[in-house]
Amino acid sequence: MFIDLSESFLSQGCTQSKQVSPDIEAVQLNGQTYRVIWKEPVTVTATCLEKGKALLKVNGALNVELFCDRCLTPVEREIGINFEQKIYAPDAVPAEMNADEQVFMEGTQLDITALINSEIVMNWPPKILCKEDCKGICTICGKNLNEGECGCDTFVPDVRMAAIKELFLANKEV
Ligand SMILES: [Zn+2]
Ligand SMILES: [Zn+2]
Repeated sequence: MFIDLSESFLSQGCTQSKQVSPDIEAVQLNGQTYRVIWKEPVTVTATCLEKGKALLKVNGALNVELFCDRCLTPVEREIGINFEQKIYAPDAVPAEMNADEQVFMEGTQLDITALINSEIVMNWPPKILCKEDCKGICTICGKNLNEGECGCDTFVPDVRMAAIKELFLANKEV
């Protein structure tokens, strides 16, 4: 989705503000697909600082359907979008700056989809738990242990003790 911001480059003080509902239904990250849930539109504001130069602000929030790191239960989490950057009209890009350094801009058009996708990745929650003390799932039967014990024998033998025992038995045979 592109938004034309040409009006915000005309002269100092002019402001363009728009509410948009981005066309993003899912995010791909690390080989996974996560559903995006929009609760409200995103606000895009561009204020002209001087002819050809504007300050772009994008604010909003979306919810993503994530999965608990331990038990894989779906968890909805809010991800904020708070982006601010100076943007330039194509004929006003400073000499020291390459036109392609203007991320998310194509001419006077803002690629709002690319901008929001990037914000989502930057603000992705580092750890996702359905609750602080999530018990996870049983590694034997796969039962969600938050729903109760499964009765599996989850005793894990000590690997080092097993190695010593093996060594002991091996020596005995000699
Ligand atoms: Zn969990
Ligand atoms: Zn089990």
